Amino acid sequence: MTGLAPGATAIVNAMSVDVEDYYHVSAFDGILPRVEWPRLESRVCANTERLLDIFDEHEVHATFFVLGVVGEQFPGLVRSIASRGHEVASHGYAHRLIYDQTPTAFRADVRRARSLLEDACGRRVAGYRAPSYSITPRSLWALDILLEEGYQYDSSVFPIRHDRYGIPVSERRPYLIQRKAGSLVEVPASTTNAGPVNLPVAGGGYFRILPYAWAKWGISRVNCNEGRPVVFYLHPWEIDPGQPRLKAGRVSAFRHYRNLDRTEARLRQLLADFRFGTMESLVFQVRQDKERAATEGALPYCW
Ligand SMILES: [Zn+2]
Repeated sequence: MTGLAPGATAIVNAMSVDVEDYYHVSAFDGILPRVEWPRLESRVCANTERLLDIFDEHEVHATFFVLGVVGEQFPGLVRSIASRGHEVASHGYAHRLIYDQTPTAFRADVRRARSLLEDACGRRVAGYRAPSYSITPRSLWALDILLEEGYQYDSSVFPIRHDRYGIPVSERRPYLIQRKAGSLVEVPASTTNAGPVNLPVAGGGYFRILPYAWAKWGISRVNCNEGRPVVFYLHPWEIDPGQPRLKAGRVSAFRHYRNLDRTEARLRQLLADFRFGTMESLVFQVRQDKERAATEGALPYCW
């Protein structure tokens, strides 16, 4: 820790990175056929190494949800993440939205990703995050499959309203889900609430597009008013203003390219203002307080 800004609490938040290239994002699914992927310039290694250097400077250990196709192509990157003291978790293999897959295809995807990431880093992979948070009311079956495939926690249910994802009425804090195959800790990306509406405050496009003061206010609110850590997330391509521009529609282009040149400085500010650790440590805390968590663990739907 390099010295926190005045007002920062002692709470250790969770820092997470979804390790994928700029062309893997779901917003480009319709405009860029997947067969084109191998022909595009890959920038994920350089961008991820840059994030690792920034985290080193701030003495922060984070969780990296690595996409299987990235881990397969660059096993050295997965090893580097683990050997520098971070947690390796899974972002699935092929970056397909879960509700567009059959349960059988999803099982094969998460099994393949976990196995190749574990082979690359030599450690157990416990966590999963879906492409574009695509565990929604129509793909809750995925949680059972994750449990059966040996995952210990999930971070794919986003309690907000969005055109591609979200269960706005789901729990905002980490909670334990009990199923026949065992228990899974669900760790949602963080929100703050304004009346009945949950507002995203901790990462991704929200962090890039909205002013930094928004994230700082929201995270402080969760830390101080609720006494809980936030789960922050970003992608390696978000600190890369030099990435090739793809021909996306207006909304997708705005969401993807806005403020790429400002994100690294914002991230450094964030790391100076708040404390961060891995998802695994946060999950450990939730499991430690099992009884309390078990009573909280209600998804608003049965499946
Ligand atoms: Zn992703």
